[in-house]
Amino acid sequence: MNPPIPAACLDHKDLGRLLYGMTTPQSSPSPDPGGALVPAPDDLALDTMAREAEESTAEPDHSRIPSAPPSFFGLLPGEVEAILVGAGWQRYRARQVLEWVYGKRTRNPAAMSNLGKTQREELTRLVDLGLPRIHKKIQSPGGDAVKYALELRDRARVESVAMLSKRGITLCVSSQAGCGMACVFCATGTLGLARNLKADEIVAQVVHMLETNDWQDPGFNVVFMGMGEPLANYAQTLKAIRVLNAEEGLRVGARRITVSTCGMVPQMHRLAKEGLQLGLAISLHATTDGLRDRLVPINRRYPLRELVRAAEFYAETTGRRVTLEYILLAGVNDRKGDAERLADMANSLPCKINLIPYNPVPQLPWQRPTDEAIQRFADWLFPRCPAVTLRWSQGGDIAAACGQLGAKG
Ligand code: SAH
Repeated sequence: MNPPIPAACLDHKDLGRLLYGMTTPQSSPSPDPGGALVPAPDDLALDTMAREAEESTAEPDHSRIPSAPPSFFGLLPGEVEAILVGAGWQRYRARQVLEWVYGKRTRNPAAMSNLGKTQREELTRLVDLGLPRIHKKIQSPGGDAVKYALELRDRARVESVAMLSKRGITLCVSSQAGCGMACVFCATGTLGLARNLKADEIVAQVVHMLETNDWQDPGFNVVFMGMGEPLANYAQTLKAIRVLNAEEGLRVGARRITVSTCGMVPQMHRLAKEGLQLGLAISLHATTDGLRDRLVPINRRYPLRELVRAAEFYAETTGRRVTLEYILLAGVNDRKGDAERLADMANSLPCKINLIPYNPVPQLPWQRPTDEAIQRFADWLFPRCPAVTLRWSQGGDIAAACGQLGAKG
């Protein structure tokens, strides 16, 4: 049985209160990280993943019919303007259309009352205002988390999650269909990579979630913590971020957008130099190369020393502290020595730590520590590094919590 869904990202001081009353601590046999069910990628596969990510560009979109208009949601305001002006429209019309779509959240051209009749008719021949079909939408019993399975043009499916907490709305988006990183504890990692998403397919997830919820929040957060490794799909992820961030678009402040990575070091350096103040979360999960090599295979390509250096560079260049995400796996990375090494690492870096009790995935052997063990780990850390939060993922009872996306059942 899952515990009830508490608010996300609780402060350490809230912990005791929330832990009190939680149910079913599990007994915790220690799975052997080397004996995971999913084969880790070999060195050649790691090299290929790293190279592809480095070469990541805006590749042609094979999922579209060649004569179809481009999706509106993959276009920067200037690109919308260029298309409309190219069709003989006046420049200011682009602003009007952008205001309807992103400001007033209206995608139906017939309702765009300040456009002329012919323009209303012509618009959908110039840009595609459609969104992916909702294959499934599941609401958590408490109503504070909604998981969407969206079907893309080529039938690829991705999942997105909207969460409501006292800190406002957080929209969790996918950057790839499946994932090639093969982190051994992650449901999406078991799927393998189907394909990279295009920028419009990422932005469309946000627009979808805003349209299909009536939650009111003037400023929402977007986190790239759904399916996929955003930095392995660098160009499209960045394009989507620029569309979301645009003054004439949804105006999501860069500080409200967080990119989460398993540790694609060259892309972390590149991201630092984009001139954006994005949040960067690093899926650390282990404090020794020996363990991290097995849990997060990309570590064999970019070991901890390089990862930490990239994190430092990111923090120095952007002026933003990075977040170290640390899932707690019973008997694997939840011992006192792990906490001590984590604290040392955190103290040498401008960062905060986000502890995430593991969300069990069917068919995978990993276990969540008992509530007492989670508390103990946080207590070891807390006096040494005060910036610790414990994330009780929302959506656990609808398989929408971190790392459960793509899980069957
Ligand atoms: N590829 C990116 C984003 C993926 S998911 C990354 O690795 O950061 C976002 C977070 O959920 C990552 O920290 C990931 O390691 C974590 N995660 C994966 N499976 C999980 C699970 N079953 N329980 C809790 N967190 C999990």
